[in-house]
Amino acid sequence: MLFRQLFDPETSTYTYLVADLDTKTAMLIDPVLEQVERDRQLLQELGLTLKYCLETHIHADHITGTAKLREATGCVGIVPQNAQAVCADRLMKDGEVLELGSVKVEAIATLGHTDSHNAYLINKTHLLTGDSLLIRGCGRTDFQSGNAGMLYDAITQRLFTLPDETLVYPGHDYRGNTVSTIAEEKQWNPRFVGRSRDEFIQLMANLNLPNPKKIMEAVPANQRCGNVAA
Ligand code: FE
Repeated sequence: MLFRQLFDPETSTYTYLVADLDTKTAMLIDPVLEQVERDRQLLQELGLTLKYCLETHIHADHITGTAKLREATGCVGIVPQNAQAVCADRLMKDGEVLELGSVKVEAIATLGHTDSHNAYLINKTHLLTGDSLLIRGCGRTDFQSGNAGMLYDAITQRLFTLPDETLVYPGHDYRGNTVSTIAEEKQWNPRFVGRSRDEFIQLMANLNLPNPKKIMEAVPANQRCGNVAA
């Protein structure tokens, strides 16, 4: 398997490139519109054919590159079950496994940041958490039908029960972190360590974060898979 973490500095978003080297096929998880040329060039340089674009959720902070990539490559756009994205070619529900040659991607429903959200576990070793679990943090729950109690349950009951050595790759990082493990997050994530479900809900209700700059344009555009012209 080829695995690459790519970064969009404007929105601190990580995009992941995962490929099967026998079949030379690839998928991108959470591509960013402004980085489509970077992604296409890398695919070309590595001799890879893009088969899938996966979203962990409908983003509020950036516009997805899926529509543009689909137009250019004919790839299949996949969103989590119940995502309000009429443009998607396919939905992925909890427990479903997508295969790309010998690479297996399992969807783990991790609701709470938004009311439709998947983490993707690649080959049982690399966990792409989207905006559920972040490194020493977690996704916010104060808009897009977010629900702190549901996020607490998803992270503590679904993700923290994966093997300790599972690698954690988040959808964003604002401090320069790139990768963690389930063991590390269980031990050191300040949002969860020593906090009950009720205490977590209290904490999340009092963060008072400003809205993302692009929320008004990003959410409707992402419901069209990033098709800004529509
Ligand atoms: Fe998000």
